[in-house]
Formats: sequence, structure tokens, C-alpha cells
Amino acid sequence: MARPSGRRILSDRCGNLRPAARRLDRKRAGGRLRAAYFTGRWRRHRILQRTASGRARRAAAAVAAVALLVSVAVAVGHVTLRYYLGEGRVRAEATLELTASALGGWLRRYEIVPRLLGDDDRLRQLVSYSEGGDIEQRTQMANRWLADRNAILGSSEIYVIAPDGTTLAASNFDKPDSFVGRNFAYRPYFVEAMQGRTGRFFGIGTTSGVRGYYFAGPIRDHAGRIAGVLAVKVGLDELEAEWAKGVEEVLVIDPEGIVFLSSERDWLYSAFEPLTPQQTARSQASRRYAEVRPHEIEAGRSTVGGVGILTIRDENDRGSEHVEVRRSMPAAEWTLHVLLDTAPLRAQARMATGLLIALLGALGLGALILSQRRQREGERLALREAAKIELERRVEERTAELEQANRLIAAEVAERRLAEAELRRTQADLVQAGKLAALGRISAALSHEINQPLAAVRNYADSAAILIERGEPERAKGNVVQILSLVDRMAAIARHLREVARKPQSPLRAVDLNDAVAEALVIVGPRLTAAGVEVTVDLLAGVSPARAGPVRLQQVIVNLLANAADAVEGQADRRVRISAFEEGARLCLTVSDSGPGVQPALAEQIFDPFFTTKGVGAGLGLGLSISYNIAKDFGGDLSVAAGSLGGAAFTLSLYPAAVPAGMAAE
Ligand code: ADP
Repeated sequence: MARPSGRRILSDRCGNLRPAARRLDRKRAGGRLRAAYFTGRWRRHRILQRTASGRARRAAAAVAAVALLVSVAVAVGHVTLRYYLGEGRVRAEATLELTASALGGWLRRYEIVPRLLGDDDRLRQLVSYSEGGDIEQRTQMANRWLADRNAILGSSEIYVIAPDGTTLAASNFDKPDSFVGRNFAYRPYFVEAMQGRTGRFFGIGTTSGVRGYYFAGPIRDHAGRIAGVLAVKVGLDELEAEWAKGVEEVLVIDPEGIVFLSSERDWLYSAFEPLTPQQTARSQASRRYAEVRPHEIEAGRSTVGGVGILTIRDENDRGSEHVEVRRSMPAAEWTLHVLLDTAPLRAQARMATGLLIALLGALGLGALILSQRRQREGERLALREAAKIELERRVEERTAELEQANRLIAAEVAERRLAEAELRRTQADLVQAGKLAALGRISAALSHEINQPLAAVRNYADSAAILIERGEPERAKGNVVQILSLVDRMAAIARHLREVARKPQSPLRAVDLNDAVAEALVIVGPRLTAAGVEVTVDLLAGVSPARAGPVRLQQVIVNLLANAADAVEGQADRRVRISAFEEGARLCLTVSDSGPGVQPALAEQIFDPFFTTKGVGAGLGLGLSISYNIAKDFGGDLSVAAGSLGGAAFTLSLYPAAVPAGMAAE
């Protein structure tokens, strides 16, 4: 029979050729599997590609973010610096405002003094020579009066100057550096007062060497002519000391650009811009700075965000930078400057920038971490998706393989069932055929076996007829007995032959071996006992039931026991043992005896019909033959071997009832 192709694949699946089978299966699974495979691969590839390009994009974004952060830092640095410089300017302007108004008020306080005191008669008399009188006495009086006024007003000095510039009387008349007798004709305030105006001037006192602001007004005689000048000098040191207490530097710069008042001592009498010869000449003409020579300081002016910046470099080449605000005070002819050091402002700007950048950086970092987390999550999901796709693909592939294998197995099983049924049918046919063949052989032997008794029957009948004719009925009766015996024998042969030829119809079922043995012993027991045979039954306690027909099984056991009894008959040692055991999948029942045993040369023949070693009339030679056929009917076997008791041991092997019929048939 040609092997089905499916069978090859199945054995491949169980053997070493599995990859080849898988290839074949794949081919059979066809386009669907291939499509799933390639689609899965392609989708996974796309996901991984997307993940890789996402990584590149993130790197570029990080570089761009760093560049952006640097630019933002620079821009924020500029903005915060401008902001804090602007703040500084506001502060400086506030200081400037306050200082200017205080200074203006202070100046206005003394501005009126010359006009108020100039009207006094004592002074008029002093400057009016024409009025006569004791000049010495008038001077003394004027001196004391001036000293009193000076003390009351809190001014530095008050003095009276004659039209020629010579000081006639002064509040410091009694001091070593008294102004009395000094000539101040060169002072601009004197010139202005002599012209009838209020003279103003600031400078270092040529006599005292002390800085002051000078106010002067004319003293008119009784005719209304200008006969002299009253001058008031106000000290400025107090103002300066007050300014030094503040954070900001306060400067007063004269029209020539020279610092006249300064909260910072080093800058006093200095110029932040180079002095022209004309400026120097003008200063010298007015002797504003007496013997002091103004010096230049290296400085530069610039603006940052509209805020004026003054950079000053000192003698030690140390630079300082200041926010500068100024206001010109035309009445006093000077300019008031307020300088605020930019170092704290820059530090504040830096700190604010740092904080802002840190904040931005933290925000950026947070955003980056968040986006990276999201990216990673996305990647993880993408990879999971890829793994899922791969798994789906494999599952689909494997499912297709399994489906294919299942189809093949199903086909295989169906085919196998068919083959088994066929085999069983063939086996049954063969058994029957064997039986028929045996029947043929039996017929041949039968004609011999039957013909002999028939001939004997005829002879006995003939001689019986003769004996009756002779009037010897007793002897004729003996012949009749012989005839009956021969007829019985022939009937027994016929009965056994019917058994052999009969195809068993009764179905097999589970039969307990113990029960079968017990029933057989009931039948054979009396004979064994009569013959003095020692019977040992050695069965298994929980032996499983055998697949057999109960009556036929009992027939086999009875036959084996009868043969054993025959074998030990006449022996000194007469023992028979029945034992049961399981051997592999089979159940075995052995009947062994202490008889002469079966010679190996005869072992094959004893199962043939009509083979017997027993004397004429003792055995038919059919017992083992029938038993063998019954064993085969049960799907089992009957064999002989040398037994443990010294004689023969016949073993009947059967399948347990649990074993499927198909397998038992094999
Ligand atoms: P029969 O018993 O009528 O001779 P069987 O078929 O039962 O026919 O036996 C065939 C032969 O097998 C017997 O004649 C005998 O020679 C031999 N045989 C059977 N059983 C035994 C046994 N237990 N020991 C020795 N020989 C035996």
C-alpha cells in the first residue's frame, strides 16, 4: 500500500526532519502567512525607524535649546542690567532732587543777607568818609556788630569792603587771619556788588584757605551812591560732610568743569575732562582756588540704555563706574552731580539674570525631562507595539503550522482507523482461513481416525451377528459394548471438530482470571484429588480482568489442568501449580507440573490437531489445538516451556480488558 504523504510529514514532526516539515508547511500555509510575516516585519521596522529618527530629532532639539538658552541669557543679561541701571538712575535722581532743593534753600537763606545788613547805618557811616567822626570808633563798632550778626546767622564771615576793594571791617577782625585791610578787588562778587547787583561767588578763601560761598551787595550812602560792599561768606564743609554720609556721591562742578564740592575727597579740585588753557586762565583770574592747582582725572562718559555712565580711573589705575545724573543750578553758577556706583547694580543685575536663567534652565530642564519621559514612554510603547506585532506574527505563523499539522494528524488518524479495521478484518479472515486449512488437514486425519473405528465397528458388528447366530449372546454383547465405545469416540471427535471449525460469535468481555481458575478447579478438582495431585494456586490479589469469553477461558484452563494431571499420573512427585502474573501489557496464567515435560522437538507439534502421545483411546490430540485457537480468538497466545516444577509449563497470555480491542487484535 502506498504511504500517504501526510504520514511522512507527521513522522517528520516527531523526528529530526522538523525544519524541512516546517518549510513544507509554510509553503502550504501560503500567501496569508507570508503576508503576515512581511507585514509584521515591515511594521516593526517602521516603528524602530520612527524611534531612531525621534532620537536624532531630540539631539538636534537639545542643541537648539542650549543655543536658545545662551541667547536668552545674553538678552536677559542686557535687559536686567538696563533695568537695574534705570533703577539706579531713579534713585540718583531722587537724591539729586533732594540735594538740589536743600542746596537751593540753603543758598537762598544767605542770599538776602547783604541787602538786609547793607542798609544798616553803622555800615553806611563806616563807608561814608565824608560824614566825618571817629573812623577808628566806627570801625570798632562795625567789627563787633558784624561779629554779632555772623554768630546769629551762622555764616562763616561777614565783612565790609571799601570801593577800592580794601576790607574796612570784618566779623573776624580779632582773628589772626582777619580780613580787615585785605583787598578783594579781584573777586567777581565785589565787582558785581559795586555795580549795584547781588554778587555771588564760590571759591577758596585766599586769606583763610577755607572754601565758601560768597554773597555780596552794595552799601549806599545817604545820597544813595554805592559807597562800599557788604560780603557774607558761608562755609560749605558741613554740607559736604552731610553728603558723605549717603550712598551716592554728590559733586558740585564749577562752570570750568572743576569739582568744587565732593562727598569723595579724592575728586575735590579735579576735572573729569581735560582743562583748556582758557578755563585754567579764568580760574586763576578769579583766584577761585587760591593756591590750589586743579588736577585732571581720567574719566569717560557713555550711556547704557539711556542711562549716563561715568567711568573714573584713579591714580592706582583702579576703575569705578557710576550712574551719573546732573542738574545745573544757574543761580549758583554750578552744576550738581549725583553719582551712584554701578557695582551693586551690576551685581543685582547678575543675580537677577542668574536667577532668571536658573529659572528658565529649570523650566527648560523640566520641559526636557518631561519631553524625554514622553519620548521614552513613546519609544517603550513603540517597542512594545513592535514586540506585540512580532509576537502576533509568530503566533499567526505557529497557528498556521499547527492548523496544518492538525489537518495532517486528523487525516492520519482517519487513515489509521481505516487501516486498523482492514487489518482486523484480514486477521479474522486469516484466522478463519487457518481454521479451514486446519479443517482440511483434520478431514484427512479424520478419515483415518473415523475409518479405523468404523472398520472396527463393522468387524465387531459382523462378529456379533455370527456370535448371535451361534447362540453366544454374551460374547455378542461384549462386541456391542466395544461398538458403543467406538461410536462414543467418533461422537467425541465430531464434537471437538465442531468446536474447531466454529467461528466464535460470542463477544469478548472482562473476565476475572481468579474466577475462571476457581471454576475450572471445580470441574477438574475431583480428578486431581483422586490422582493424589498436590495443586498450588498462586494468583495475584488485584489482578486486572482479562479480555476473554468466560466459558472458553474456563475450557482452556480445564484442558491445561487435565493435561497436567495426565502428565503427573504415575509419578512419585505429583505437583501442579497455577500462577498468574502481569508481563508488560499482558496478563499471564501459567499451569506448570512436575511431569516429564515436553521435549523441544515436539513443542511445535503438540498444538496441532490430533497430535497426542497418549495411548489409543486415552487422548484425542485436540485439547491443545482447540485451546490454542481459543487463545488466538481472545487476541492472546498459548505457549509451552520448561516449568519450575521440572515438567512442562503452559502459559496463556491475554490482554487486560482495559486495552482497546484494536490493539489487542494486533
Ligand atoms: P491429548 O491430551 O488428547 O493427547 P492434547 O492436544 O491435549 O491431546 O495433548 C497433545 C499432547 O501434548 C499430549 O499427547 C502430550 O504428549 C503432550 N502434552 C500435553 N500436556 C502435557 C503435559 N502437561 N506434559 C507433557 N506432555 C503433555
